[in-house]
Amino acid sequence: MLEARLFNKEKTSLNLQEKILLKEEIKDKLRVMNASIICHYYVDGIVQDLAIESGGIVADSLEMARYGQRSSADILIVAGVKFMGETAKILSPQKKVFMVNNMATCSLDVGCSFDDFNEFCDNNPSRTVLVYANTSASIKARSDWTVTSSCAIDIVEYLASKKLPLIFAPDKHLGNYIKKMTGADILNWEGHCVVHDEFKSFELKKLSKNMPEAEILVHPEAPNSVIELADCVGSTSQLLKYSKQSKCKTFIVATDNGLIHAMKKSSPKKSFIEAPTAGNGATCKSCAHCPWMEMNDLKGVLNALGGNAEEIIVQNETSEKAMKSITKMLNFTR
Ligand code: SF4
Repeated sequence: MLEARLFNKEKTSLNLQEKILLKEEIKDKLRVMNASIICHYYVDGIVQDLAIESGGIVADSLEMARYGQRSSADILIVAGVKFMGETAKILSPQKKVFMVNNMATCSLDVGCSFDDFNEFCDNNPSRTVLVYANTSASIKARSDWTVTSSCAIDIVEYLASKKLPLIFAPDKHLGNYIKKMTGADILNWEGHCVVHDEFKSFELKKLSKNMPEAEILVHPEAPNSVIELADCVGSTSQLLKYSKQSKCKTFIVATDNGLIHAMKKSSPKKSFIEAPTAGNGATCKSCAHCPWMEMNDLKGVLNALGGNAEEIIVQNETSEKAMKSITKMLNFTR
């Protein structure tokens, strides 16, 4: 994480005019190369805007996966983190896939190594293995099902109806939330997201008391004490949809603040406030923004299109196994 923070600190920022010119240059290249940008909601707003203006997509992990597969582009540029690039490559092996920044990873992915996870599964052989999309291709290859936060509850309800005991990895908060909502027999891996784990219920209660009119939107990677205060718990796309449809005019948002860009664009007359992080008396508060998502910028997109980035490659055997796990999710949610 330190590496990501240092990289972001050293980034040279462009002024507005330079950004506009760079966006136009990138759009031309995307057209000429038949390339498309697949962007996550947590990425910088200017890259989100570029993705939309150039005919690409801004979405959650599930829709990013689907879009890559159905896109007619020859080249996919993934603005997000590494597991998203790997998933795009697994689902579209004939396309060239590049990350905007190859160093962009995820604390959930990093905290779930293949050897440790393999041993965990081997020690619990009777359990069906579900993994969150935020994992490496090799972890997905070791699993029976891949899920995202937008479909996890539906898939677990289905598996629980068959009385199957489950392993869920790697996010413990999401695993506990799914367990609570479905009553399924779940053995959790103890990983966490460095962004969502920082939201604190004590401070959120204080903020909410001062603005009782605001609705609280929470991603299920947040701790249970924060989830309990929510008016809506859901994936990024579900929180975005709720903010559009609700009659409420003010929202406190407990997920990466990158999502607020899309929320403001779709509801310009509503107000969105970042949920507070860190505890009472803490001297340092997290910025509610993923250091790896922040590594995605316009220069990185240009670099990926210029042949200077390393292509995402997934070994055939891993890819084939992971494809089975991901395809089950895509078919279930079709
Ligand atoms: S916000 Fe959390 S879960 Fe998402 S990529 Fe960053 S570290 Fe991973």
